[in-house]
Amino acid sequence: MTSNADLLLDDFLAFSLKGETPSITQGTTRSGVRWTWQSHGIALFEPAHAPTHSVLASAGIHGDETAPIEMLSRLVADIANGRAPLAARMLVILGNIDAMRGGTRYINDDLNRLFSGRYKSLPQSHEAPRAAELEAQALQFFDGATHAKWHIDMHTAIRASVFEQFALLPHTGAPLARAMFDWLRDARLQAVLLHKEKSNTFVHFTAQHANALACTLELGKVRPFGENDLARFAASDAALRRLIADEALKEQAPLRVFTVVAQIDKQSEHFVLNVASDVPNFTAFPSGTELAHDGAYRYRVSHDEERIVFPNPRVKPGLRAGLMVIDTTDATFASLA
Ligand SMILES: [Zn+2]
Repeated sequence: MTSNADLLLDDFLAFSLKGETPSITQGTTRSGVRWTWQSHGIALFEPAHAPTHSVLASAGIHGDETAPIEMLSRLVADIANGRAPLAARMLVILGNIDAMRGGTRYINDDLNRLFSGRYKSLPQSHEAPRAAELEAQALQFFDGATHAKWHIDMHTAIRASVFEQFALLPHTGAPLARAMFDWLRDARLQAVLLHKEKSNTFVHFTAQHANALACTLELGKVRPFGENDLARFAASDAALRRLIADEALKEQAPLRVFTVVAQIDKQSEHFVLNVASDVPNFTAFPSGTELAHDGAYRYRVSHDEERIVFPNPRVKPGLRAGLMVIDTTDATFASLA
């Protein structure tokens, strides 16, 4: 192996940030794993024996969400040196490399709003070709797989949260899978948010078009590369390693489930959000609380208790300024097949 391809496996993040093309694009590690460099920031790993399932693990869809990117890069090194056993086929994706290089969330457009073809309506966007490439790579990876298909997309949140680590599940109309909830508990996620509408996220795309068990993980607050305390992400890292090794789940951490019941809409520049714009995600408000107004529009809490997620009064008029969720833990677990 040349030194260039060594770096690819030893430090996939550094290699990807350099933007180089490897001198050789595939090989076999000492542990028998077949690796293929697919494209910048995209690598395929296939176990020596028939794979039990397929796992797409992505990070850096937002370029400044560094901790999961570093975590995934270390996982690549450990797959290559044999420390992380592999029973599944695995596709590793570092999403928005140009934004990573610039230390920003994105260059022109939020990549995680461009999937399911939305990039076609923004052909000039710096992110459009990458969205198209990630869709094609994901479809190619899952195509023809008859075993279980997983997609774990790892992020870090911008704001504080009542539940520091939480997951979001896309809404495709398919029944909720107990396997996903069991895995989220194994990863010690504290809460999961169930969407009720389709969206343009990467996980929505793989859930909808490849039938993958897909989730977005929000793993706490973000810092620059090299300054992350990866110990805070150890539970998710360990659960991802168990998933790709096809090892038994270990943790059964309590998991609260929340379902979206409404959204707060920004209609005009007169929009006023009545809570601090840095209010933590999942902050609860009692029935009757007026959370926002905009001309004649009012948003009042109508359930006994609603919690606000992703409030952002600075979005453009016509866009969502916050999601409202209610606790559906008991009903959701009772509904799982
Ligand atoms: Zn993100």
